[in-house]
Amino acid sequence: MTERLRGRIALITGGCSGIGLATAELFVAEGARVTIADIDASAGRALERKFAGHLQFVHCDVREESNIRGAVDAAVQAFERLDILFNNAGAGGTPDTLENMAVEAWDAAMSLLLRSAMLGIKHAVPALKASGGGAIINTSSVAGLRPGIGPVAYSVAKAAVNHLTRIAAVEFAASRIRVNAICPGVVLTPAVGAAFGASRAEADRLRPKIAQAAQALQPVPRAGMPQDIAEACLYLASDAAGFVTGSEFIVDGGLMVNPPEGYSAAVLRIAQACGAAE
Ligand code: NAD
Repeated sequence: MTERLRGRIALITGGCSGIGLATAELFVAEGARVTIADIDASAGRALERKFAGHLQFVHCDVREESNIRGAVDAAVQAFERLDILFNNAGAGGTPDTLENMAVEAWDAAMSLLLRSAMLGIKHAVPALKASGGGAIINTSSVAGLRPGIGPVAYSVAKAAVNHLTRIAAVEFAASRIRVNAICPGVVLTPAVGAAFGASRAEADRLRPKIAQAAQALQPVPRAGMPQDIAEACLYLASDAAGFVTGSEFIVDGGLMVNPPEGYSAAVLRIAQACGAAE
């Protein structure tokens, strides 16, 4: 390893699975010490054992401001500073269309996907400033760039995350804090199956089928993997990205330049693999 994050201290929300987990593993391998903030205590404790001395788990529901404040405090207390915040926890949220939208479901999606990112920034910035600067990465999605890719509330929340990113990038540039959004395409994590109604166990079982369907989703002829996003996060967190802020960093195998009808057909195939469509 190149130790591109040697001595850096990172806080990663949603680090117990998928994109957050791959990023936590890569950050540790590159020399960082990582605090994972997540609701999955058993996975978090197992990670603490696996990466003892390099990783701590903090139970944190990112919908709760006090939990986020506590996660920042725990990171600083354990490792004495904070250099990197990865606002990543999330899930697909309600599938409701606009005409059927239940207001509670809308609010729940905004709380999980958007308010959490704002709260992460709010509470991490003082610690980042105390470290002399740092990097914030917000997990957005290609669904936040174009309609018709994800559920309505999810897509609106991710679009707002992109704008939050731009605003924060301007606000904190003088404090040497860079703020970027990462926009993954479809990435093979348990969340993909869940988006089509499969339980975690079912999604694991259906993984080969989902992976096969995902190959045809974008011009690059393979499924997107959590490690693809982790590599991009490593770049955005590292000094190599010193002049990069306010960006929507797209990592999607070319999905955004793929014809929409090709995308719809491939999404249908994933839904079929999950038994969510005939
Ligand atoms: P995942 O389900 O594998 O991981 C999500 C993690 O977030 C889990 O560890 C879960 O326990 C945690 N989490 C969920 N709710 C939480 C809460 N309230 N508080 C704290 N932690 C919570 O999913 P993933 O695919 O790795 O998703 C990570 C991020 O990537 C999400 O923001 C998602 O919207 C985004 N994303 C995923 C894809 C994809 O195709 N997988 C594409 C674009 C964007």
